[in-house]
Amino acid sequence: MSNKKTAEISRRNFLTGAGAAAVGAAAMVTPGVKLEAAQKKAPRWAMVMDLRRCVGCRACTVACKAENNVSLGRFRAVIQEETTGTFPNTKKGFLPLMCNHCEGSKEDGVPPCVKICPQFPGERAKYKNAEGKTIRYRSGGTYKRPDGMILVDTKQCIGCGKCIDACPYGVRSFNPFVKAGGDTTKQVADKCDMCAHRVDNGVEPSCVNTCQGRARIFGDLNDPDSAVSKLVKEHNLAKADNVLLAEEGTDPHVFYIDPDNMLKTLYTQRKKGNLDHYVDQIP
Ligand code: SF4
Ligand code: SF4
Repeated sequence: MSNKKTAEISRRNFLTGAGAAAVGAAAMVTPGVKLEAAQKKAPRWAMVMDLRRCVGCRACTVACKAENNVSLGRFRAVIQEETTGTFPNTKKGFLPLMCNHCEGSKEDGVPPCVKICPQFPGERAKYKNAEGKTIRYRSGGTYKRPDGMILVDTKQCIGCGKCIDACPYGVRSFNPFVKAGGDTTKQVADKCDMCAHRVDNGVEPSCVNTCQGRARIFGDLNDPDSAVSKLVKEHNLAKADNVLLAEEGTDPHVFYIDPDNMLKTLYTQRKKGNLDHYVDQIP
């Protein structure tokens, strides 16, 4: 088999391989990951953004729109770009932003967008892990799957917009082209779903696959051998300085390798009320 073909196959199957390894491994819990997830042998999907490697090309933004048919004037993955310093000593900074697929508060493990949804808890649902074991959970308008993905069910969503207001990161918007629960007067909530349809088939999210600089790394935090687990451990990312708005207590699962402290420099302008990159703007 050619090297190229081997590389393609291993890239496509990396999730299933990692998942199988996780299932076989003794429960090792990365800080910030709920013990119960490991005990139930579900993966805990997470993303690491390596800010040393992002060049602001926005291939991720375009790939996300194409993959998920994100409507005109809306984005699920954006790059905030800022120039810092004074001429001639200036520096460009790029900050990839998306839903953080938050674990939720320490008390109940439910993120604010889910907690406020009047349609949660909703229908009973089943999640099958890599071993074929079924984990039961409750879905809703928006909900947390056992593997940590925060998802929207367009059939259960009634388009009230409460989750859009409740998210401290402003990553949600309405999809003007999909009606909520069949009500023609309401639009559904929309946001990044970590390309669940790809991940469930053992393929990494489209933004990760497209990133030429390998600034985005996706994987299972419950697998100590996964790339994300290794990076979280190596760079000590499970501390407040390496996620966005740690003070909100949402326990984000998008971590940043940020040696130049760009999170603080760039994200200060993105406090609630000033978060509009997801709607009607070219990011
Ligand atoms: S970033 Fe916002 S929408 Fe995403 S899980 Fe956290 S609170 Fe919910
Ligand atoms: S817009 Fe939909 S998902 Fe968001 S809170 Fe309302 S019912 Fe729940």
